[in-house]
Amino acid sequence: MVTAKTESNFYVRFWGVRGSIPCAGPEIQKYGGNTSCLEVRCGKRLLIFDGGSGIRYLGNELMKSNPIEADIFLTHGHMDHVCGFPFFKPFYCAASRFHMHSATLSCCGRTTKNALEDLMKTPLLPIDVEIFEAKVDFRDFNCGATTDLGDGIKVATTELNHPNGATGYRIEFGGKSICYITDTEHDPEQMDKNILGLIKDADIFIYDSMYTDEEYPDFVGFGHSTWQEGVRLADAAGVKKFVAFHHDPDHDDAFMDNVASALEAKRPGSVVAHQGMILRP
Ligand SMILES: [Zn+2]
Ligand SMILES: [Zn+2]
Repeated sequence: MVTAKTESNFYVRFWGVRGSIPCAGPEIQKYGGNTSCLEVRCGKRLLIFDGGSGIRYLGNELMKSNPIEADIFLTHGHMDHVCGFPFFKPFYCAASRFHMHSATLSCCGRTTKNALEDLMKTPLLPIDVEIFEAKVDFRDFNCGATTDLGDGIKVATTELNHPNGATGYRIEFGGKSICYITDTEHDPEQMDKNILGLIKDADIFIYDSMYTDEEYPDFVGFGHSTWQEGVRLADAAGVKKFVAFHHDPDHDDAFMDNVASALEAKRPGSVVAHQGMILRP
């Protein structure tokens, strides 16, 4: 949390960094087992990206300062990005307000709200979306749109290459930028122009680094990328800090330590995301 007056009031905190499925155990304790969830603070405003299992812990922290108002942005409706929502306690507080932003997915014309409704349906869960006591409004947009949230905050988007579609984000505040690009597969022949455009000169670039280039041939078509492709994109777009994210649940701490060393050697200052990490642009 921001304590010293000299610290920037724009930062990202990682509540979940794992891909595909939450996992637990001593072998993944260092980097963490919760799935995608980021808390982004822009001055007094709170933005949340994705509702993977990490959002439950963010919710517990937020309960200390209820009521809450926040804008929630969803990359897509896959389970690892929405499974925490039913367990996000602030949704059950009548005084809280949430604005849920998600793109209509090009695959099926459905939104993540639809995915959330499907998730909270008998017999998957004994409760449905209507049970939320907080005021939750759903704001659908078309991928590629930029949302002006007021207070000097702009959120730009682009479409990613992922089964069923996904949205990449760039948050601008106070002349700085954080990009959140997860669940996307690269083309080894050419860099993704949508992503290059969105992350140009970004201060922080968080990227789907599920695999290594060496592993990738076994996972073509799975919808994910590699940390090495992230470095190539970061270099080409003039990004300041690269962050590897959405770790494979089978990659234990020892494996991720090796990735961190290789990353530091290749692009000094880059980091592997871990649960609880805070980065300031
Ligand atoms: Zn995912
Ligand atoms: Zn996905």
